[in-house]
Amino acid sequence: MAAERSAEILRRSISLFPGGVNSPVRAFRGVGGDPVVAARGEGARIWDADGKEYIDYVLSWGPLVLGHAHPMVLDALDAAMRNGTSFGMPTELEVKLGELIRKRMPHVEMLRFVSSGTEATMSAIRLARAFTGRDAILKFDGCYHGHADSFLVRAGSGVATLGLPNSPGVPAELAALTLTAPFNDLDETRRLAINARGGLAAIIVEPLVGNSGFIPPVPGFLQGLRSIADETGALLVFDEVMTGFRIAPAGAREMFGVTADITTLGKVIGGGLPAAAYGGRRDIMEQIAPLGPVYQAGTLSGNPLAMAAGYATLTALTSELHQRIASRTEQLVSGLEDIAGRARVPFTAGSAGSMWGFFFHPGPVRSFDDAKRSDVDLFRRFFHAALDRGIYLAPSPFEAGFVSASHGDREVEETLERLEDAMRAACA
Ligand code: PMP
Repeated sequence: MAAERSAEILRRSISLFPGGVNSPVRAFRGVGGDPVVAARGEGARIWDADGKEYIDYVLSWGPLVLGHAHPMVLDALDAAMRNGTSFGMPTELEVKLGELIRKRMPHVEMLRFVSSGTEATMSAIRLARAFTGRDAILKFDGCYHGHADSFLVRAGSGVATLGLPNSPGVPAELAALTLTAPFNDLDETRRLAINARGGLAAIIVEPLVGNSGFIPPVPGFLQGLRSIADETGALLVFDEVMTGFRIAPAGAREMFGVTADITTLGKVIGGGLPAAAYGGRRDIMEQIAPLGPVYQAGTLSGNPLAMAAGYATLTALTSELHQRIASRTEQLVSGLEDIAGRARVPFTAGSAGSMWGFFFHPGPVRSFDDAKRSDVDLFRRFFHAALDRGIYLAPSPFEAGFVSASHGDREVEETLERLEDAMRAACA
């Protein structure tokens, strides 16, 4: 039960917003109970409207790689804000962030800023369709690419948590153009790609899945997708909205050695403000208006505050810092493995850079179908026991977790102590 002030805010929110929230997974339907009403964040910690403190492993669902209210981000915002909050005109800030992204991800030869991951993936697919002259796309079961119509087909966490295989309101004719294969299944992918009527415009994938829990690609899977795309003339789109600047300083290409034709980014590149991007091969990106005929626009695209927060975040996130956060993440995951081992519960966990996750499943978990066979009831009990003890984990068994630069040894130790106790409570 939410405490007094939180309960009062939640009561008001229920009559205003569907389910009391402005994005479904916030409503705790995957775990039951009332959502935490956030009032303040600093570093690795958040405080709810009643002053209860939590160590945060959701971090606004990924963007806050430096932690909450990081001084460098606040200073950058302050400086940018004093010059005006939006122009709808070119600015140097957007050029600086664009150059920094291209320096780290040289395959992003040209890019376009947008304001959400959904816009980035939706635009990337429009571009792929225009570039190839084909309509069908292939995605993977359990991968989430935002809520554009074409992607609400077997779309992972949020949709799965609510038990909606698809969303009403998506025209069947459009959904029929989205083919789906199980993640990590190259044979099925190849079969679908070869047999797609009219050919595939794009194969879009989370190179390391975070939206059906944390599921890495098996060795050779992404290389296989690259080959299938090349053989069939489809473009390969890596949706790095979650993995970009999270799993490695430069994302999936650095980690897996596979280069996508188009990459979508979001979350970290906005440092907690609304910014996302799509970009890639110059010959493809040159099709975007006004250079080319493919239309895509945005009033607040390249917003100066978002660019300033993103630039400060990426500048602070050096390879050394990335490595430090990655080690802390490994420490957290191995501590959790020990706790689960002592509790004798089926458990598998992993991390890549500062992204991590676990399932109550003996493993390996290679697909969303595997993930769904995990012990979801145990997850719910563990989640609430952790929450009671001031540890804020993602409120769904099918979401990845994150660690920030502000999670020090103290936070990780404190977390593991509390999670040991939470596990005992969940198993009692
Ligand atoms: N793609 C991926 C891989 C994501 O994880 C998300 C959001 N969780 C999106 C796209 C959509 O981004 P947004 O919520 O900013 O629209």
